[in-house]
Amino acid sequence: MKSATSPHAPPQRARRLAVEDYVSGVLSGDVALLARAITLIESNLRQDEERAQQVLERLLSHTGKAKRIGITGVPGVGKSTFIETFGCFLVEHGHKLAVLTIDPASARSGGSILGDKTRMEKLCGLPNAFIRPTSAGDHLGGVARRTRETMLLCEAAGFDVIMVESVGVGQSEITLHSMVDFFLLLLLPGAGDELQGLKKGIMEMADLVLINKADGTNRLRAEHARADQAAALHCLQPATPGWKTEVALGSGLTGEGVPEVWAHIRKFYAELEPKGIIAQRRQQQVLEWLGALIHDELRRRFDRDPRVIARLPGLQEALRHGDMTPVNAAKILLETHTSANSTPPEARKTP
Ligand code: GDP
Repeated sequence: MKSATSPHAPPQRARRLAVEDYVSGVLSGDVALLARAITLIESNLRQDEERAQQVLERLLSHTGKAKRIGITGVPGVGKSTFIETFGCFLVEHGHKLAVLTIDPASARSGGSILGDKTRMEKLCGLPNAFIRPTSAGDHLGGVARRTRETMLLCEAAGFDVIMVESVGVGQSEITLHSMVDFFLLLLLPGAGDELQGLKKGIMEMADLVLINKADGTNRLRAEHARADQAAALHCLQPATPGWKTEVALGSGLTGEGVPEVWAHIRKFYAELEPKGIIAQRRQQQVLEWLGALIHDELRRRFDRDPRVIARLPGLQEALRHGDMTPVNAAKILLETHTSANSTPPEARKTP
């Protein structure tokens, strides 16, 4: 158990809030209470987790109304600059915007790729923009859960556009894709796929590809990149049924192309929402989330089962010496884990 001084525990001087306080605070759009509700869902303490789920369940009927937009691209492609410009544009046009981040580095080290930068200062200063730094987590699944739940809280608090950014490394784009409606991929002008660090499969997920930094002397190269990427897309299945992924040019620095990106996103919703495609995608995502949660929890119980821990070194030794097949070793461990029928308390989730 973590002590009350854990980084995930609420500050000691803050009054402990009841579920009802969180619910009414979030629904009234109180940003301070929204931030505390997010801290609650980020907590690893068992009693906080229970309360967090109660809060979420009470708020569920108030969620789902936002446009959920995912933005990704390799580090340096200009995501934070673009999100700041795009975010300011949206707020100027009367939207309430929340910006969340999926950063697997924070899961590994507690530090983050983004943490050392002063990001989005202008956007931070706007009253209708809410920027939540990367949530801490002990694994990507944990970060993903918290980001999803934070998104729901933000929706219940009245934010009508949620942008979720992935840092573009590891598995973060796939996680991102599993929680948003619209997937925007930023690319650099004039760099080949290898230079872009483009992973296989990422183009297949994009609902819009934006060649970013298409300003100044980059413009011509950006035009070429656009033609190349459009040709590449031509051979792919559409990321979303009934929607043609296009390649656009833009610049987070100058703001060029930003209104067009928004027009594009609005068109996406206007065309696909009435057909039920967005609702269908969200239902699918919730079911996949259920599967991932069960998978993660089973794996955690298995890894912490003292009987498994006790048997593991001997089996590893047998494998190293070629005395046993991996399939048989796995079978023995799984049987060891399931044989007692119930999980001993010490193997259950601990903070
Ligand atoms: P991120 O790592 O993807 O978040 O990228 P940043 O937004 O931090 O930008 C990385 C670098 O590219 C910075 O030096 C920015 O000033 C620069 N940059 C970002 N957007 C643009 C753009 O639209 N045009 C140009 N020319 N430079 C940009």
